[in-house]
This record gives sequence, C-alpha cells and structure tokens, in this order.
Amino acid sequence: MIELKNVTKIYNSTYIMAIDNISLEIDDGEFVFLIGPSGAGKSTLIKLILHEEEISGGKMKVNGYDLGRLKRRQIPYLRRSVGIVFQDFRLLPDKTVFENIAFAMQIVGADRRKIERIVPQVLKLTGLTGKEKMKPHQLSGGEQQRAALARALANKPPVLIADEPTGNLDPDTAWEIMRLLEEVNKLGTTVIVATHAKDIVNRMNKRVIALKDGVIVRDEKEGQYDHV
Ligand code: ADP
Repeated sequence: MIELKNVTKIYNSTYIMAIDNISLEIDDGEFVFLIGPSGAGKSTLIKLILHEEEISGGKMKVNGYDLGRLKRRQIPYLRRSVGIVFQDFRLLPDKTVFENIAFAMQIVGADRRKIERIVPQVLKLTGLTGKEKMKPHQLSGGEQQRAALARALANKPPVLIADEPTGNLDPDTAWEIMRLLEEVNKLGTTVIVATHAKDIVNRMNKRVIALKDGVIVRDEKEGQYDHV
C-alpha cells in the first residue's frame, strides 16, 4: 500500500516544486497507470516511493514504511519491497539471464537452494524457460524486458513499478509485456506503470492517475489517456 498525504517535493538545487501537495492512495493489488507530460513529476514520484529522493513535506508511507521517519537500516528493506523495471531494461550485459536474476537474489541474501528454486519459477512466469543461459544481447527487446521483469519479481515484492516499460518495444511486443504485467497483477502484485503509451492506457481500462506540474489533475477508476 502506498499513501501520500499532502506530499511535496522541492529539489534543493533548483527550488523546483516537482510534487505539489499530492494526496493519494494506491491499495494492495491495484493496477495503476501514471501518466502526464514530460516534467509532470512522474519520475520524482517513483523516486520518492523508492526513497531515492526524500519528501520535502507531508506524510508518505510505502508498504508500511513511514518515509518521513525512515531509519537508514530500513532503506534496503523498503527497496526490496518495490520491484522496478525500466524502459532500457538495465540488465547486466556480461551475465546470463539466470545470473542476472540470481544476482538480484544474492544481494538480498538468498542462498543457492532458494535461487535454484525461484529462478525457474520467474522464468516460467515470464515465458523465458529455456533462455536462462542467454546473455542480454542474444535476446530480443521483448525478451530482455521479460528478463528484467523476472529479475524484479524474484524477490517477490508486493509492489512492482514499470517506468515506461514499452518505450523501446514495437507495438505487438509492447502488448505482450502489458499482458504479462496484467498477469503479475492478477497474481496479487500491485502494479504501477508510468507511460506515454496512449493506445495501451486507452484499451486496458485501468485506474489512471494523471500528473501535471506536480499536481494530480485526474484520478479515474477506469480511465483513458486523454480526458473524455
Ligand atoms: P517526469 O518524470 O514526469 O518527466 P520529473 O519528475 O522528471 O517529471 O520532473 C519534474 C520536475 O522536477 C521538472 O521540472 C524537472 O526539471 C524537475 N527535476 C527532476 N529531477 C530533478 C533534479 N534531480 N534536480 C532538480 N530538478 C529536478
């Protein structure tokens, strides 16, 4: 669960108010599109969720962690509770698919047995069974995004954020990734997708939160990309 109450974020270097008094709740199990023009504050909101940037005012809770009074030692646990995938996949180029996923698990202390058990599960979920020995450059864009998704899900985070996940993919492949995100959501993970993909937003009938100049200009249950 993600809760914001009158949250602001002002970047100290520029005095820009990137998030301007936002109140918002995203419940466990929701599927949410986060839309808005460039500079609207989408990336800042994602950074606040991951505590890569600190809130300047208000109250914010992510998966039970109160970001206003987070202790340094809690930060890794907070981040572990939020999986993330990016437009450019960010897989480690010299590691195989298996090793990319295993590495993410080792960082949080998983042992060999657990890794051997979980990796095939997430590969199956993402349709990558058989590709575990491939390096990222041997995969198609869609497969690379699936591998990134498998890695993000390996530690079973309650929340998954996808930051423009289909930006580098052709339309058919983009749809495959969106269907996969929908499936992940149906299995219980809260999914937040920041995107400019109008067609996808318009056809999926999910909650749409639209930001502009750091303000929520629209929050609709089965929303569209543009106001209708
Ligand atoms: P979006 O992801 O919707 O394009 P951002 O969250 O990146 O929007 O940006 C929101 C506003 O905050 C913009 O005006 C941007 O210039 C500003 N901003 C973003 N990151 C920083 C930063 N690290 N330092 C100063 N200003 C920033």
